[in-house]
Amino acid sequence: MKRRNFIKKASVTGLGLVTVSSVLTHCDEPLARNKKVIAVADGVKPMVIATWKTDLAVETAAKVLEKGGNALDAVEQGCRIEEANEKGKSVGKGGLPDRDGNVTLDACIMNDKGDYGAVLGVKNIKHVISVARKVMEDTPHVMLVGDGAEQFAVAKGFKRENLLTEASKKAWQKWKEKSEYKPIINIENHDTIGMLAIDKKGNISGACTTSGLAYKMPGRVGDSPIIGGGLFVDNEVGGASATGLGEEVLKTVGSFLIVELMRQGKSPQKACEEAIGRIVNKPGKDFRNFQVGYIAVNKKGETGAYSIHKYFSYNLYKNKENKNIPSDFYNKV
Ligand code: ASP
Repeated sequence: MKRRNFIKKASVTGLGLVTVSSVLTHCDEPLARNKKVIAVADGVKPMVIATWKTDLAVETAAKVLEKGGNALDAVEQGCRIEEANEKGKSVGKGGLPDRDGNVTLDACIMNDKGDYGAVLGVKNIKHVISVARKVMEDTPHVMLVGDGAEQFAVAKGFKRENLLTEASKKAWQKWKEKSEYKPIINIENHDTIGMLAIDKKGNISGACTTSGLAYKMPGRVGDSPIIGGGLFVDNEVGGASATGLGEEVLKTVGSFLIVELMRQGKSPQKACEEAIGRIVNKPGKDFRNFQVGYIAVNKKGETGAYSIHKYFSYNLYKNKENKNIPSDFYNKV
């Protein structure tokens, strides 16, 4: 049956309110995107949501948006604040190194057109979120890794610098005394930044940047730079971002899952809860020693956040107010 005829028939038989994409699932033509795009309510635009207590990063992103800047610039500028913050132990300069003492950074960015760029395991470059953006905009690829990513960054004018600070070096030397490698996440204290923004035009972009797990095996990469893991954005539906033990996020493709659940009609909050449920309800999974936290926003500007354990929080800029809000969590015992 031809698409137009089918839709016509659907409306006369009382299915007129069904969206184009759901009608198309019943015919043999390729699936179309959902054409019934929901507009963001004017009151909530612009807005920003980011993992952890990231007041300054969110404020910086919000300023970009309030001046009429786009969501992509906002998330990039916001994430750069944390990358430059030497006190943050798991992002950018001052991030804790791998077990050999090398700081390696992972980052990704996704725009409202569904384009994506990422860098993995990059040494000596602080603003990897901006390198990820260059990968997205200036190459035919989506990911660059290690030395190749570093060389690309230098060719694009980024400066090489030592990312190991005196404080992170001392912490690593202390860790080396015992070299106990437990790939778990300290529940209260990590600060990978995942950020989602909606600009005044109602478009959504997202970014995520991290130094990954402290004292990780050299070469280890977590969820943060992986599309659908640490970040996913679909401008017609919403976006999601993750923090915590990346291995568990990746096994459940967490951020993609949340966006797809929102596409099916779940609220951002319920979608985050279900994504955490997929991790903790696996048979035999002992989730007591690791944390995962999600944030999400939908096209209407509704937000959600959920984690396995207490102490996850997020910053939300909405209606011109920037607040740090404790997330609800699964493990209440
Ligand atoms: N998700 C990051 C990773 O697994 C770590 C973090 O959120 O702190 O690399």
